Amino acid sequence: MDIIIGKYSGFCNGVKYTIDQANKIISENKDIYCLGEIVHNENVVEELEKKGMKTIHSINECPNNSKLIIRAHGDLKETYDKAKEKGVQIFDLTCGKIKSIRMKIDKKKDDHFIIIIGKKNHPESLGVQSFSGNNSYIIEDESNINECIEKLANSKKDKAYIISQTTFNSDKFDKLVNILKEKIQKELIVEKTICNATSNRQQETDLISKEVDLMIIVGGKKSSNTKELEVISKKNCKNVLLIQDVNDLKNMNYKKIKKIGIMAGASTPEIIVNEIIDYIKKEEK
Ligand code: SF4
Repeated sequence: MDIIIGKYSGFCNGVKYTIDQANKIISENKDIYCLGEIVHNENVVEELEKKGMKTIHSINECPNNSKLIIRAHGDLKETYDKAKEKGVQIFDLTCGKIKSIRMKIDKKKDDHFIIIIGKKNHPESLGVQSFSGNNSYIIEDESNINECIEKLANSKKDKAYIISQTTFNSDKFDKLVNILKEKIQKELIVEKTICNATSNRQQETDLISKEVDLMIIVGGKKSSNTKELEVISKKNCKNVLLIQDVNDLKNMNYKKIKKIGIMAGASTPEIIVNEIIDYIKKEEK
């Protein structure tokens, strides 16, 4: 059996930086809190929690004058403000690419309506929107376009600035932008801020899934970039599995499978992918 492993599989630079820094911070400090899952991968979160990091779900759970990690996706502007009020020391591990989107928005938000094309409930989209002021809207799919146009009209801004969540599906972004261009008669500035790590991984997933009998996508169940890889693979391959780790592969029948493709999302550690490869090789014998 052939196994094709994506060369863009696994940690992106942003996630790697966040996890390396978190390990360093945990080793040098006591009582470190992290607001939300540090990255969308349960195995990674568990490892860091074993070392002493405490995951909390609201800034209100963070004691006054304590220490707080802001995760790779970043967080709401209100979180930074509230942390300051509580005397909380912040270790901001937001990926530099997401910080740079926030800076771009900051320059445009006074005279542009901000449109974020991304998942509506994703912490990155919500975080970026919170830095956009009142005149902003998140579009996840075509069903949101009319409401966005209504909000844009009410905002009285004559220009709109469109950006994307860094892990959004590239084709879907292009499609939504084309619809917006047809429907909006105002000046539109479009910046496709999908991260290279995401687009490379999506393109490679598309290629690999076209030539295998089984495509295995590895990643956290809540990971947006991982789910996109599953969607892309399903367009090309009848047999697609989204798994978190090797335990999800138990009892698989590989008899009719000649070629397997493996691609891991941006928050998936290499060790998890290696365990999966070892397991498949053993089962094959
Ligand atoms: S996918 Fe890109 S933007 Fe997101 S954390 Fe990784 S490097 Fe940063």
